Order: sequence, then C-alpha cells, then structure tokens
Amino acid sequence: MASGANSLMWFRKGLRLHDNPALEYAAKGSKFLYPVFVIDPHYMEPDPTAFSLGSSKAGLNRIQFLLESLVDLDLSLKKVGSRLLVLKGDPGEVLIRCLKEGYVSGTGVEIFSPVSHTLYNPADIIRKNGGSPPLSYQSFLKLAGQPSWATTPLLTTISSLPPIGNTGSFAVSEVPTVRELGYEDLAEDERTPFKGGESEALKRLRESIANKEWVANFEKPKGDPSAFLKPATTVLSPYLKFGCLSSRYFYQCIQDILKCSRKHTSPPVSLLGQLLWRDFFYTAAFGTPNFDQMKGNRICKQIPWKNDDELLAAWRDSRTGFPWIDAIMVQLRKWGWIHHLARHSVACFLTRGDLFVHWERGRHVFERLLIDSDWAINNGNWLWLSCSSFFYQYNRIYSPTSFGKKYDPAGNYIRHFLPVLKDMPKEYIYEPWTAPISVQRKAKCIIGVDYPKPVVSHDSASKECKMRLGEAYALNKKLNGLVSDEDLNELRRKTDNESTTLDSVSRKKKQKLID
Ligand code: FAD
Repeated sequence: MASGANSLMWFRKGLRLHDNPALEYAAKGSKFLYPVFVIDPHYMEPDPTAFSLGSSKAGLNRIQFLLESLVDLDLSLKKVGSRLLVLKGDPGEVLIRCLKEGYVSGTGVEIFSPVSHTLYNPADIIRKNGGSPPLSYQSFLKLAGQPSWATTPLLTTISSLPPIGNTGSFAVSEVPTVRELGYEDLAEDERTPFKGGESEALKRLRESIANKEWVANFEKPKGDPSAFLKPATTVLSPYLKFGCLSSRYFYQCIQDILKCSRKHTSPPVSLLGQLLWRDFFYTAAFGTPNFDQMKGNRICKQIPWKNDDELLAAWRDSRTGFPWIDAIMVQLRKWGWIHHLARHSVACFLTRGDLFVHWERGRHVFERLLIDSDWAINNGNWLWLSCSSFFYQYNRIYSPTSFGKKYDPAGNYIRHFLPVLKDMPKEYIYEPWTAPISVQRKAKCIIGVDYPKPVVSHDSASKECKMRLGEAYALNKKLNGLVSDEDLNELRRKTDNESTTLDSVSRKKKQKLID
C-alpha cells in the first residue's frame, strides 16, 4: 500500500527481498518506507483445546517457522537500511489505524497489490477460459502459455531502501519468540528440521538445483516417499507458502538449467511442471466458490462420507495399526512436511481407500500440521485424492501395506518414525499383526498392547469403499442437471449422517432421479 510520498508495505505473502515488487516500487523513490508485519492473535495465540500444540489455526511448528522467517526478513531489511515493524492486533484494524494515525501522508491511499505469489494472475486465466477456471492440467497449460515475465531477469538484489520515519504512537516491537507468544519451546524431537526464512530458502534452492542432471531428469511420481535422510524432492514448499521464495524466481532458475540441457522431462512430471501444478490449483481455487467444502462446491462430487471421530483420531494420532500410515502421520506431526506420495497414501487411506472419512476432516488435520499448509493447494489435493474432483479413478487404491514396501523393503522409515517397531523383523514390519507371538515377544512389541491392531481389514474396507463410491458416482450422474438445488440439499442432509448410506435415500427420491 502506498500513499502520498510515503509507503506502507504490508508483508503478507512475501517474506523476502528478492523478486518483491513492493520493495522494488519503494526503492524507486518513496520518502519513507514502513515494512509492516502484523502479528494476528487469531493466528498466533495458544489454543489449549486444539489437538496439537499451537493456535486454533496453526500447529506450533508452522508458527515457529513463520517467526524464523520474520527474524530473517528483519535482518535482511536492516542490512539495506530499513527494518521490519512488527505490530500486534487484528491486521485489518491495525492497518487502518496506521493509515489514519500518520504513517502515511497525503490525501488519498493507493492500494498497490501486484501479483507475485504465483506465476500467473488466476483472474487472467479464468477470463481466457470464458469465466470459469480450467479443470484439467492440460487445458490450464494451453491457456497459461509462457509467463510474461519469464524472459527478463527478475530483481533479486536490493542495495538500499528509503529510511523509516517516525513511527508515531504505534507500539512497534521486535519479532516475538514462541515463549513470548505463550508457548513452551518445542522439544528437540518434536521440532521440524526445516528452518524458516528467505536465507534458508535461497540456500536450499541453490543446493536443490546444483545437480543440473537431477533437475533435468526430475520425474514425479518416481521419487521415494520413504527417503527421510535426504528427501527425494526439494522441500521448498514451506518457503513458497510464506513467500520466502518467489515461485517466479524458482521457475527462472529451473528454466535456465533446462535451456542448457540436451534432454529433460516436461510438465506435468518435471520440476517446472510441479510449479505449474501450484498455479493450476490456485486458479481452480480462486474461481470456484466453496472450494474448501463439499456443499455448494459445483466441482465436488457429493459423497456420503462418514464422520467417524474414532477412526479420524486413530488416523490423526498414528494409531491405525498400519505402520506405513502411522509412520507418515508421525512425520507429519513432527516435521510438518511429508513427501507427496506419502500425502497420497494417508489421504487415500482416510477417505476412499479404507476409512471412508470425510476429506474435509483430513484436510483440516493437514491444514493445521503442515508447515507448507496452503489453502488452495491443500484443498485441491484433498479433492483429488478423495476422488471428489479432478481425478475419478476410484478403483485405484494405495495399499497401506505393499505401497511403501516397494520403496523401503527393510522398513527403515517405519523404524525411524515408529521406534516401537524398530526390532520387528522385516518380513512383518508392514503387517506386524501377522507376526507369530514369539516374534512379537522377541521384538518387544506385542500387537494390541504395545502397538495397535489394524483398525480395519484393508481387503474388505477397500472393497466397501469402492462400492460406496460406485453408488455415489452413479447418483451424482443422475443428479447432474436433473434435480433442483432444494432436492440436492435434501439428499445431502440425508447423506450427511454417518450411518446413512445411499441406500437409505428414499426409494421414491431415487426413482424420481432415475426417471
Ligand atoms: P517438489 O516436488 O520439489 O515441487 C516443487 C514445488 O511445486 C512444491 O514446493 C510446490 O509448491 C509445488 N508442487 C509440487 N507438487 C504439487 C502439487 N501436487 N500441487 C500443487 N503444487 C505442487 N503442497 C503445499 O505446498 N501445501 C499444501 O498444503 C499441500 N497439501 C497437500 C495435500 C495432499 C493431500 C496432497 C496429496 C498434496 C499436497 N501438497 C501440498 C502438494 C505436494 O505434496 C507438495 O507441494 C510437495 O510434496 C512439497 O514438497 P516439495 O517442495 O519437495 O515439492
């Protein structure tokens, strides 16, 4: 935001100096520059009722990551003659007070909000598509084309910034610590190994792209989801989420490598293709009302998911009895990051693969625990994985026992994140309930006592899920265009109930739909 000669820069999704159009604008000659970040209690205050340490919105690892990112940004701003002004309160109110009480002079306020968090402006793509977002990746690519800025180098260094003027009556503070926000420090083994901030982001980017061959041959989904000592992908997502890394700069760095490679992979599987997935979901989310829910979301299949609290808690708290699933959920809680295929495994298991629990509930757990938690991408992928939108092959289910084994037959990933199973012989590590009791005793892990029995039988649960999805799909087809919103809402009300299957929708109604 800028007014008169002075500028008030609100750092919301751009905790960085490189490729930051707001700073570029300020460097071009404002009298004073006020880089502001508002600590929003709604986002930061401890919520003792939440299922994990943190606020009502975010787990403590993500809050910690954000604070580290702010400290780093403040240090970088200080190096170029400025600093970060940390304010507290409701961001909307605080900003209006800032404007009223004199950070900015002049009569009018000009809101300057350039697109820099994504590669494209979602509104442009939607316009090109006649008013609605493209729902397939290929149609998205066709519409998007080469980004307009991609051929000119982005501004990646700023040598100086205008000074900070008088901050008036505002209580400006340093970036708080987690303790100052009312939390205990996280125990060492509960803390994510990924540190927040632009400096870390750029270091990680440099390391990730140093191996040019790796970049050129990157091919998802070929990576190993069980690799934890050196993850198989870049782990740049948390930095993109907070804007510590510009996706446009990342794109240009990859593009420079590909230009010099004789052979390379292409979207959707290439590394560049991953960044395009990000924009694909941003565009879909931007143009779809109620994108984050089943009700009122026109691109989401209406499915009578269960709302089973116990199954949800078993999944969330790593107690399903399937070591592959439970180990992933431990990594999610402790690291706030898991590999893409690990996300596939647990999201499929919770929803259409085994437990038939509503995708919105799984989404909520991810939203809280991920350090890269991103509204558009997270909801988009949950819609995908639950076969509610974008992807519809519900017969293709990830096995909670054999999928992980393909990558890690010895079960090292499971042993690391579930130490209770560390001495289980590798023949049983993915299905410990099949181990003879003598083996369980020797491994000091009795199934049903030290580690839970499986919450479902995968064979029968997955068959049941397929059947239910088949029914739901058939009904959705009938519903398409054939019934009024009122009828649809009535059906949804009925199917909302956990114990309700589609069979319980009245015969009359079904007959009406079929007619
Ligand atoms: P890389 O493979 O190194 O990819 C580089 C970047 O491309 C990523 O950092 C990310 O920004 C983007 N990207 C990669 N895959 C995808 C994808 N499928 N969709 C959109 N963008 C992608 N990603 C998030 O950033 N935030 C989320 O909240 C999130 N929730 C997810 C929930 C589910 C159920 C699933 C299946 C996936 C989710 N993803 C999410 C997408 C993806 O798993 C992560 O972006 C990726 O694993 C991050 O690791 P990386 O940075 O090493 O990825």
